[in-house]
Amino acid sequence: MTDQYEYKPRQIEKNPAKEFRFGEGRISCYLSVTLGILSLLAVLAYLYPSYLTTTELRKVYDAKQLQDVLKYGMYFSLMFGALTLVLNRAKYKYYALTGIGFTLIAFALGGYSIPVGPVEPRELSLGVDWLILAFLASTAVFMVLEKVFPKYRDQLITRPEWGTDMFYFCFNHLAISAILIFANYHASHFSWALSPSVQASVQSLPILVQFVLIVLCADFVLYWEHRAYHEIKALWPIHAVHHSIENLDWLAGSRGHFIQVFSERAMVMIPLYLLGADEVALNAYVTFAALQAILIHCNLDLPFGPLKYILVTPQFHHWHHSSEKPAIDTNYSAHTVLFDRMFGTYHLPGNHWPAEYGTTVRLPRSIYGQTFYPIEANRKRLKNK
Ligand SMILES: [Zn+2]
Ligand SMILES: [Zn+2]
Repeated sequence: MTDQYEYKPRQIEKNPAKEFRFGEGRISCYLSVTLGILSLLAVLAYLYPSYLTTTELRKVYDAKQLQDVLKYGMYFSLMFGALTLVLNRAKYKYYALTGIGFTLIAFALGGYSIPVGPVEPRELSLGVDWLILAFLASTAVFMVLEKVFPKYRDQLITRPEWGTDMFYFCFNHLAISAILIFANYHASHFSWALSPSVQASVQSLPILVQFVLIVLCADFVLYWEHRAYHEIKALWPIHAVHHSIENLDWLAGSRGHFIQVFSERAMVMIPLYLLGADEVALNAYVTFAALQAILIHCNLDLPFGPLKYILVTPQFHHWHHSSEKPAIDTNYSAHTVLFDRMFGTYHLPGNHWPAEYGTTVRLPRSIYGQTFYPIEANRKRLKNK
């Protein structure tokens, strides 16, 4: 049946009014507001580190050095704000003033010279630091890649529902410490399955082999977790929130019901916990997984060559998000295509990409509606039984 399916190219409506062009003041006003918000958030994180930063992350970066980055962010916000005002377009003036306003508040609160000292760790804190760093890294790497190698050149950065996905991006990053604590706590329930001899032999392997082993074990767990979300009727409405995206890009992958985000982390923590691999291999895996999760949703047509038959790539995961018949319930893997191949759920038709994205039954478009959609959908399902 798959062979007879007629693949069509995706049609994207052009929207010249929303395109970014130099000299209009639109790019500079957005930059001013974005940098203003990030600066203010960063200053607050420097003021209240025990409430707004996460212990795990603080170990990785140098808070003092990052103040230099903050300094440039604050000055650039003012500069882009001023540039917008000079360009004098009424439409964007308020954005520029808002950006400048945020930055001035950030200066008033102490700016980039707040003393950095030891932090008293707290059980639960918001990952404001993680949010800022992830945002900067994602825009610097993935937004640039999408501009250089776009799959759909006409798809805008401010495509439909980008605000919804920005909310999910912020929410899921802020909740990171809660997720980490929950996942670690849950993994410790599996201490009965720990085997010192298994852990010792894993640790005696070269780091690269340990890394591959972690990828495969995590992929196996994530494959079945993901498949359960698709094939168990009561679970599908939770995961359907992630599938309600109709325009994929670097930001789109952030959309996910909080139950799914929590359960995914908790499930993947079990193999990581039981393997007991070296910390270098673990950190390499966490970085790889985080980057790949963004990459596979990107609006990106990078030539991956033979790698596309080994790793999960944007084309592979875009098919997972397609509402076209041959693609439904396929491509569950997160890291490699191995388990989809093995368990008969692999779908990668040559160089074709999907024409249609989303779910066959359309979900509510509001965040509120999506949050309660699993309850609603299950209530309806049980009533119609
Ligand atoms: Zn899925
Ligand atoms: Zn996805």
